[in-house]
Amino acid sequence: MDQFNYSPEGVLHCEDININSLVEKVGTPLYVYSANSFRDHYKRFKEAFAAIDPLICFSIKTCNNIHLIQELVELGSGIDTVSGGEIFLARQANTPADKIVYAGIGKTDEEIAYALDEGIGVFNIESEEEFENISRIAAQKKKRIKAALRVTPDVIDARTHDKTKTGNRGSKFGVDIERAKAFFNTYGKDEYVDLCGVHIHIGSPIYTPKPYELAIRKITSLIDYLTDQGHDMKIIDIGGGYSADYSLGMSPKWEEFAEVIVPLLKPYYDKGMQVIMEPGRTISANSGVLLTEVNYVKKGGDKQFAVVNTGMHHLLRPAMYEAEHFMWPGNVEKKHLISERIIDKEEATKGLEKYDVVGPICESSDYLAKGRNLPQLKRGDLLCIFTAGAYGMVMSSQYNAMPRPAEVMIDGEEIFLIRERESYQDLLTGLEKRKID
Ligand SMILES: *Cc1c(COP(=O)(O)O)cnc(C)c1O
Repeated sequence: MDQFNYSPEGVLHCEDININSLVEKVGTPLYVYSANSFRDHYKRFKEAFAAIDPLICFSIKTCNNIHLIQELVELGSGIDTVSGGEIFLARQANTPADKIVYAGIGKTDEEIAYALDEGIGVFNIESEEEFENISRIAAQKKKRIKAALRVTPDVIDARTHDKTKTGNRGSKFGVDIERAKAFFNTYGKDEYVDLCGVHIHIGSPIYTPKPYELAIRKITSLIDYLTDQGHDMKIIDIGGGYSADYSLGMSPKWEEFAEVIVPLLKPYYDKGMQVIMEPGRTISANSGVLLTEVNYVKKGGDKQFAVVNTGMHHLLRPAMYEAEHFMWPGNVEKKHLISERIIDKEEATKGLEKYDVVGPICESSDYLAKGRNLPQLKRGDLLCIFTAGAYGMVMSSQYNAMPRPAEVMIDGEEIFLIRERESYQDLLTGLEKRKID
């Protein structure tokens, strides 16, 4: 369960904190995270897959505030990274280096050198040329490292948005699975890079276990083949993608994924291979919300707009992926009190009005919801955008010279400011003019 619930009086709470008193202290727009949701999701995810004791590497690209990351690291989580900057943040959050995995198709020499110096656990390799480059840099540093080959198993979930498919043939990620055998034959005996695993990340969000089943069958048969060829296979990394709930706010039933995935991997775990999983949004999405305030309500054509003080510059997902986020006022009358966010029932939609919820940015694509049924809104009302803990703040920008929002972490009765609200001064960061000789 996530920890964003309404009191019987109709006031939204995050854990024990009343959202009105929070906003009084910190203002809006505001990202609010529940520490207990983060921890609970991690623990329950781990528990569901306990039979194969996976190294769970939380995908830091979904949410990279080091104070939140630290909560997971303290529970034993590793971190999945896709850049040198993410490795840096993971280390700042005290992640043991050997629990860091590093994917990404564009690893630069500097990033590779940094990852080698830090001594990270596994490089997930995305091309022949990248392998040779990593091997060359590792040789210079006389470091021996572990690597897994990222392959595209070519399975897709029909409900996954085109912009977030990553494991199909012809995607820019990894190498086609048919090329994997040749890859291992060419590079499987490298002196510095111990190519000993297979990695997949098939896309996101994935709503059913089926695509995992298909993908895992493909890579386990590849692993069987490679083992027969004399390769010592040690790592099987099945990536992330497990769904989050953008409407009801209930965390997915990880047991349903585990029921399918565990039996497929158990024989490999029993043979001593390490299973790695890279969940991102499934842990972070429902652990955070974005609180905003209605600035204006206006009409345009036959539409009604609620103009709020956040938008695509703080939460890009609607503009970028046509993503739908459930949203509801911070304070509601009793008749609009919701328990499970089921509002499409006729009874529940009585007395609601239709709004396009839009931001202040000068782009038509700057919207958060279109034609959404909501209780009547007026200037000054708080509106909560749910399931914003993943791919939210990390994608924020200062477009239109709007400072970024603050972030707070709620832990029971305690409120922690974990990122300062930006000010106009922050718009000048790095702007000192100096002559380059
Ligand atoms: C983005 C990403 C993930 C996490 O994806 P989610 O859908 O958030 O779980 C995991 N692994 C890799 C390599 C990624 O790029």
